[in-house]
Amino acid sequence: MAKFKAILIEKEEAGQKANLIDFDEANLMEGDVTIAVEWSTVNYKDGLAITGKGPVVRKFPMIPGIDLAGTVESSSHPAWKPGDKVVLNGFGLSETIFGGYAQKARVKGDLLVAIPAGMSTREAMAIGTAGYTAMLCVIALERHGIKPGQGPIIVTGAAGGVGSVAIALLAKLGHVVIASTGRMSEVDYLKSLGAGEVVDRNQFTGPAKPLDQERYAGGVDSVGSTTLANLLAMTKYGGAVAACGLAGGRDLPTQVAPFILRSVALLGVDSVRAPIERRREAWQRLATDLDRKKLAAMTTEIPLSQAMDAARAILDGKVRGRTVVRVS
Ligand code: NDP
Repeated sequence: MAKFKAILIEKEEAGQKANLIDFDEANLMEGDVTIAVEWSTVNYKDGLAITGKGPVVRKFPMIPGIDLAGTVESSSHPAWKPGDKVVLNGFGLSETIFGGYAQKARVKGDLLVAIPAGMSTREAMAIGTAGYTAMLCVIALERHGIKPGQGPIIVTGAAGGVGSVAIALLAKLGHVVIASTGRMSEVDYLKSLGAGEVVDRNQFTGPAKPLDQERYAGGVDSVGSTTLANLLAMTKYGGAVAACGLAGGRDLPTQVAPFILRSVALLGVDSVRAPIERRREAWQRLATDLDRKKLAAMTTEIPLSQAMDAARAILDGKVRGRTVVRVS
């Protein structure tokens, strides 16, 4: 049987350990599509999985990597044939299903999305779960009725993956974007993505008032905790905040005032179990609404051998924008 490079997380008495190994194809999971994986990515959740700091991996041994993109090698699924370019993210990858940090994947064809025409497998992974989640957040705000011209949109965790893509998307759609970051050294970077103004995240990290000055028509929040509570208190009447992350904490110390006195909406966004139709819509929108030059400017490329170090660094807030992992 053929062997290929893969990162494998194994359980140990003292926790877990991750190593780059030669993996035997015979040990792949069951599935009706085999994919030659070309690219994966590093997301915050990959950091949690690799370090074991979050309960991501539920089955050991596990190939981590919540994202993969590549070319179908063989398929007995009616929708897919050899040569098709596909993307897979979430849906239990790196939790109970072998993920993208391997040169081969065998999965259920029902979980796959075709990469939109004109988008490369590398670009799909430069977007990755973080970028696709940013798109889901923007779609959630749109479904709530938020349009350009109604007021600025605040993006927290701005220099991170979700934040960087959200800024580029919102700016291209015509919104005035305010970027909140703890890295004021990244002002030029954030403005180059389309932020009209960059603010220090400190102003959102203290305890939130029940209601604050109405500043933003909407928000995309990947931070949670007091940051999300402050955003809710600062959202204009009828506005909404799309919440997808917990980089600052998983609590939400807020009060009901923004909801019952200003009709502010808190829109929860999950990417992992999002239905396939929602995924197809998001990937199509990313093909048209994300400036590829900005995507390239926010992306760093690393080989598979460096994915473990990058996954550790992302938890320390040291990674800017998006990281693609060259797997093939
Ligand atoms: P990144 O690490 O790339 O971005 C997170 C950013 O949050 C950092 O770059 C930093 O931005 C900011 N940040 C980090 N720590 C803190 C802190 N203690 N307080 C305030 N801000 C902080 O991660 P991703 O973009 O990949 O993911 C962001 C979040 O979204 C994660 O919590 C992740 O789990 C979640 N997520 C959820 C998904 C879902 O399905 N709901 C899907 C994808 C991501 P800066 O330096 O600019 O302040």
